[in-house]
Amino acid sequence: MLDNVKIVLVGTSHSGNIGSAARAMKVMGLSQLVLVDPQCDLDEQAFTLASGAGDVIENATIVSTLQEAISDCTLVVGSSARSRTLEWPMLEPRECGEKTAIASARSEVALIFGRERTGLTNEELQQCHYHVCIPANPEYSSLNLAMAVQTIGYEVRIAHLNREKQQYSDGAEVEYPRNKELELFYQHLEKVLTDTQFISQKQPGQVMNKLRRLFSRARPEVQELNILRGVLTSVEKHTSAKK
Ligand code: SAH
Repeated sequence: MLDNVKIVLVGTSHSGNIGSAARAMKVMGLSQLVLVDPQCDLDEQAFTLASGAGDVIENATIVSTLQEAISDCTLVVGSSARSRTLEWPMLEPRECGEKTAIASARSEVALIFGRERTGLTNEELQQCHYHVCIPANPEYSSLNLAMAVQTIGYEVRIAHLNREKQQYSDGAEVEYPRNKELELFYQHLEKVLTDTQFISQKQPGQVMNKLRRLFSRARPEVQELNILRGVLTSVEKHTSAKK
């Protein structure tokens, strides 16, 4: 999934920012870096700041227009420190992560980041389905480019991990008892509690109703119900042996 996510940096001027962005990507499991018309060389500074993520820079694709970077993408999100430059569908970083995780399961997604000084142009922003804004301090809202990549990359990773967890728990086969099996359990429970005189035959009261409510809330699985039946049987054996 994360292999389908492209981090697109438009017109970056400082090679160090490309290096730091590569590092930010790699720690979040992202590997596709696309540089649109970079204004710097991929020099030593880039590799120094990339630290162990030099491979992300080496494998980066360099193109001259944004169009080329996003042509195969089904979801394109542009990031901007200014939330209201254009009236455009906006995403919170968390929603951006979720939409990216869903779409990237099937197809390519582009997350676009702008120039250090001037961000993305309106024309570039208009090529996006959504804009994402990190809700920073309104008086000082512009993050360093690589840190913006880090923040959005983190949300993508979290959403991706949540989906994996979800799929795992959906796949786990939990079997619940049928109603008649539950009723047999309640009959068994009532019989044992009456035998042990926990429930008085003359004044049964609300005990069974309250126990039913308790077990409804707990919603025992088949295996758990079998254990409970076993517990009741062991009590029965013990009490009949004593008689
Ligand atoms: N002065 C520029 C800031 C550019 S910072 C501007 O006003 O747009 C470089 C890039 O980092 C931005 O183009 C954007 O892609 C990203 N970025 C920085 N701060 C951000 C924020 N608060 N929310 C979303 N993206 C942000």
